Amino acid sequence: MQTDVVVVGAGAAGLLAAVAARRLGHDVLVVERSGAVGGSTATTDGALWLPANDLMGRAGLPSDTPAEALGYLDALATPVSAVIAGRRAAFTRTAGVVARWLVTSRIALEVVKSLPDCRPEVEGAKAQGRTVRVRSVPRKLDDDWAGKVRGDDGGRTNQGFWGRLANPFTNPGQLSGGAALVCELLLRAVGSEVEFWLDCPLNELIVEGGVVTGVRVTHVGEQVDVRASKGVILACGGFEADQTLREQHLPLPTEASWSVGIGADGTALAAGAQVDAATTGLAQAWWTPVLLSEGRAHQVDAARVAPHSLIVDQAGDRYLNEAQPSTSAGRRMYEHNRGMRSVPSFLIMDDRHRKAYPLGPWAAGTSPKAAIESGELVRATNLDDLAQALSIDRAGLIGSVVAFNQLAKRGKDTDFGRGDSAWDKHFGDPRLRRNPCLASVDRQPFWAVRLYPGDSGTKGGLVIDDRSRVLRGDGEPVTGLWAVSASAASVFGSAQPAQGAGLAAAVVEAYRAVLDLSGQLDELDAALKAD
Ligand SMILES: Cc1cc2nc3c(=O)[nH]c(=O)nc-3n(C[C@H](O)[C@H](O)[C@H](O)COP(=O)(O)OP(=O)(O)OC[C@H]3O[C@@H](n4cnc5c(N)ncnc54)[C@H](O)[C@@H]3O)c2cc1C
Repeated sequence: MQTDVVVVGAGAAGLLAAVAARRLGHDVLVVERSGAVGGSTATTDGALWLPANDLMGRAGLPSDTPAEALGYLDALATPVSAVIAGRRAAFTRTAGVVARWLVTSRIALEVVKSLPDCRPEVEGAKAQGRTVRVRSVPRKLDDDWAGKVRGDDGGRTNQGFWGRLANPFTNPGQLSGGAALVCELLLRAVGSEVEFWLDCPLNELIVEGGVVTGVRVTHVGEQVDVRASKGVILACGGFEADQTLREQHLPLPTEASWSVGIGADGTALAAGAQVDAATTGLAQAWWTPVLLSEGRAHQVDAARVAPHSLIVDQAGDRYLNEAQPSTSAGRRMYEHNRGMRSVPSFLIMDDRHRKAYPLGPWAAGTSPKAAIESGELVRATNLDDLAQALSIDRAGLIGSVVAFNQLAKRGKDTDFGRGDSAWDKHFGDPRLRRNPCLASVDRQPFWAVRLYPGDSGTKGGLVIDDRSRVLRGDGEPVTGLWAVSASAASVFGSAQPAQGAGLAAAVVEAYRAVLDLSGQLDELDAALKAD
């Protein structure tokens, strides 16, 4: 089999690369390991952090420039290599171009209202406008594709309000979030005759004289060699599902079951090893505190930000701002664990919290019997009993709750700054005017869950340059091989600049990879630098 471009993986990055490459006249084959397209993208809310996008001006928001966004990224970050610095500059100057590309592809975007960057207090941050998402779209997939997008059941089920929140596919007529982005890109890919092979894992790259010339895949039960005259783009995620790689690279303790990712198994790292590709950042992930229920990890973002709750370590001590962005919250759990045991930590809630806010898989106001019986969700009439049930220090817990309630009374968390930042406030309960994230924990019964430093995907990977070309240890690019998104080391290093940063990096890097393999990237960069 012969084609121009092989794209490995059919999430947002792979689909955008396929559409863009086809539009530039290439024949494209997408090979996708699972029986459905969409990857983790389809399970997200579809937020894309695209600084200096045209929508900001149209919405009457303050202007933005790539330089401001770059300043923000630089201010956030830990020291970065020259390669990452170059990629950051490329990301910030191309993000607005990709937003325009989506809009001119008739994929309608909207600004996510009032959502600030994660660190609004840092220079270069914006109060809103950089994070956009695809507008909800009518379900338009034909019979060949209905049900072949991850999580899509063709709109046959309707699980009610909470179900629809958890699964953007359950409204029969409408798609939203990451599902909308995936379906819009898929429609354009199919419409322009991109070829898809599903249930088709990449086994290895075909490498001849150090040049990547194609892929070896399993297709309909057979091993098939596909030659790619222009190149291969790895868009197949990181390694969150591989326990061995996790133990080798991530901080310990670590479990694959703590990940809410879709199960990327290190395919890109293995492919990179075939061509002596360099790797970096392998100890980093998009951390997110999770609870475990029935063996599965669930994010608790809404619950940990909401008032009437606090997080303590195993000594019963509070040690972090519970409302901070997920990646820094997860990282803090690991940092604290070096001195005091905080894996697991405990999210302590009072009954007002349980009644008003969702908690992982459990809707507000519910008392899930099986979870309570199994001890996944702990309920106790007083803090003594709660401490005992959780095996945490009783005096520590009671002392922390008393101190927390005093802070709550004043509406100011002078210990950890919960609710100080515009980010915290955005996700708090707007009914609490003084501090939407802070209120006392004193109404019986008390509730608790164990929290683990989970992730929504890994951040380390192959070293790529600002053209998304895979680099060897000596800094030279591997001819014929590009890697994007979680297959590559994150352009953001250990930082989480904003909601939608992961997905934005995915599509921007994919776009730049396609222009590069088409010989058109220099022209774009020259035009952007001249602006
Ligand atoms: C629960 C959750 C919430 C998230 N929320 C956000 C958010 O709000 N904003 C944000 O920016 N990011 C978010 N993320 C991260 C975001 O999903 C990713 O950054 C983004 O989807 C990456 O897109 P991608 O195309 O690179 O990967 P994916 O969408 O994961 O696609 C990768 C594809 O590669 C396929 N694949 C894997 N191995 C192989 C193989 N060997 N051969 C062939 N195919 C293979 C997979 O099956 C998959 O379909 C979230 C992630 C999760 C899990």
